[in-house]
Amino acid sequence: MKTFCGRANPTTGAMEWLEEDENYDYHQEIARSRYADMLHDKDRNEKYYQGIRAAVSRVKERGEKAIVLDIGTGTGLLSMMAASSGADFCYAVEVFKPMANAAVKIVKKNGFHDKIKVINKHSTEVTVGPDGDMQCRANILVTELFDTELIGEGALPTYEHAHKYLVQEGCEAVPHRATVYVQLVESKRMWAWNKLFPVHVEAEDGEKIIVPPSEMENCPGVPSVCDIQLNQMPSSDFTVLSDVVTMFSVDFSKPVRSASTYYRVQLEPIKSGKAQIVLSWWDIDMDPSGMINCTMAPYWVKHTSAFQWRDHWMQCVYFLPNEEPVLQGEKLYLIASRDEYSLWYKLQKARGEEESKADVLLESPVCRCQAHLLWNRPRFGQLNDKNRTLQYVKSLMKVLKTDSVCLCISDGSLLPVLAQYLGAKQCMHTSRTDLYHPHELLYAVFLANHLEDKIKIIEARPELLTSSHLEDKKISVLVGEPFFATSLLPWHNLYFWYARTAVTDHLTSDVTILPQSASLHMMIVEFQDLWRIRSPCGTCEGFDVQTMDDMINNSLNYRESKEAEPHPLWEYPCKSLSDPQEVLTFDFRKTVPQHRFSTKGSVSLLRKGKSHGAVLWMEYYLAADISVSTGLVQISNEKGNCEWNPHCKQAVYFFSSVIESETLSDLPSAVAYAINFDTKTGEIAMDFKL
Ligand code: SAH
Repeated sequence: MKTFCGRANPTTGAMEWLEEDENYDYHQEIARSRYADMLHDKDRNEKYYQGIRAAVSRVKERGEKAIVLDIGTGTGLLSMMAASSGADFCYAVEVFKPMANAAVKIVKKNGFHDKIKVINKHSTEVTVGPDGDMQCRANILVTELFDTELIGEGALPTYEHAHKYLVQEGCEAVPHRATVYVQLVESKRMWAWNKLFPVHVEAEDGEKIIVPPSEMENCPGVPSVCDIQLNQMPSSDFTVLSDVVTMFSVDFSKPVRSASTYYRVQLEPIKSGKAQIVLSWWDIDMDPSGMINCTMAPYWVKHTSAFQWRDHWMQCVYFLPNEEPVLQGEKLYLIASRDEYSLWYKLQKARGEEESKADVLLESPVCRCQAHLLWNRPRFGQLNDKNRTLQYVKSLMKVLKTDSVCLCISDGSLLPVLAQYLGAKQCMHTSRTDLYHPHELLYAVFLANHLEDKIKIIEARPELLTSSHLEDKKISVLVGEPFFATSLLPWHNLYFWYARTAVTDHLTSDVTILPQSASLHMMIVEFQDLWRIRSPCGTCEGFDVQTMDDMINNSLNYRESKEAEPHPLWEYPCKSLSDPQEVLTFDFRKTVPQHRFSTKGSVSLLRKGKSHGAVLWMEYYLAADISVSTGLVQISNEKGNCEWNPHCKQAVYFFSSVIESETLSDLPSAVAYAINFDTKTGEIAMDFKL
């Protein structure tokens, strides 16, 4: 079987699917998987164990044999919990082959191979009967198939099928039930991830405004979930408009229906304001009485002192189709619609409309304005970032002249509009055309601002530009943010440099390139929690899961050099252990050189702490003295706590071994690094020695 892996290619700006050989064995998936994070989630593990013990006892008290079905067994953890709680037999089903193989090894190592049968199948393929995978139907159903949105990993269809074909009527289920909670809020910060706000530009001839197209204002957006670490959102960034209410529950011990449906609850705003966002999370009761409860409630709701950090389950932000003013005490209905895998929300003011609207509500939202397809949530936030816009305005003002012919290379950028407002003679925009349709969106923006005749959209990717596209003009100002929708890691936006190289023949000899250069910055950090996702577990609730650690480690080391991974660090607190250091610079005024370039050096550790890894980000020098950072904003206190750009993901390179220095004189005072930029592939490889 062939395995394909998706990768961003910075030299073409495209997403490419690489075919891996048969020895590949899903290393990327394993190395980036959430298994370690789940095994570190003590709260989850303890509660599953308690719930499983209680379910086995209830079955035994009835005088029955305890036959367990564990769907999505992963490491085999929940089946081993069941077996040690006295279950007579467990069927552990796992669809992902490398994990099923690992489960077999782990079960054997822990001495449960006569009690647990690992079945490497999707649960819907499992057969029951004397010659089947399972001898008989199970009377205990154990699963952990939930994502942050609860149903996004297909829990509902899996349960529906299991109740029909794999478990007995009246079976015990762990968890017994899940409940989804919602709270209505107003938040300019979060709303800015979903709508383009008017952009104010101070030009020499007065203030000008870029207005969003009207179809964007009323667009329902896309149903893909926005999952975040809501605990990192300060309470000053949103206003609560309602109490927390229960939206719906699912009882997993009874037949489950996965078909599309909707739920409606009544809400009474506790405050007047603009209803924009529904915050949501869930909890699971491991037992029927609800005594064993595992909750994702955020800090302002949860009143327990024991706080469990986890990344595999977070909280959801849902955007209402449009903002609506609500009054304190007014009667409102909040409607959650769902299909098998996703949820979306709507507010309804009067009850009368409800019946006729039922059909409409079941249809999942479809983006009509293109913006929600081209721009992800952080990108919206970036475009709405006033300070960032100001830096571009200031630098454009420095470089533009009345005879400037300006070309912008970026995916769906507003820079040509800024350049037009700031007096460029002519503005054009080009972008990659392969994956997205930035042109339609841009045209709508230009139309809304009466600029459709003033800014030319070139429907050819930079590498294919001809003089006729440019009306035989030479470009005197080449601009880019740079932003490309396919970029995953900070340096993937270096595609701007490759595109700039490709259009060289169309540039004037004294062309201004904005940004003129970029540099890669690096800093050593100690994470408060994020380290857990890549840290070995050893044992989990008394079970030896080292096989899993070894498997992850093996996958991390599959390529010659380990890779950095993208994380939005505003969600993951860390402190700096070193000063930020500039490690590589890329001069966009020149073309991409033929040869690879690299740097070696060392960075001194200034604070004591655990060196979990290095964080890397790009800074763009727009014009003299003006730069924008996609990473560190500032180190906010003497403890080294960091503030990060909230609209960008940074690159995190986890060290394979963690060095802890209690005192500064202890252990290494510096970390040695070697960083390589391969101009042929656009990739950056790195190595660190502690
Ligand atoms: N039970 C483990 C792992 C949970 S992760 C634990 O609690 O630690 C969920 C696992 O379920 C993944 O390994 C995924 O591959 C698997 N999975 C999801 N749906 C499945 C299905 N319908 N049939 C079989 N495996 C499934």
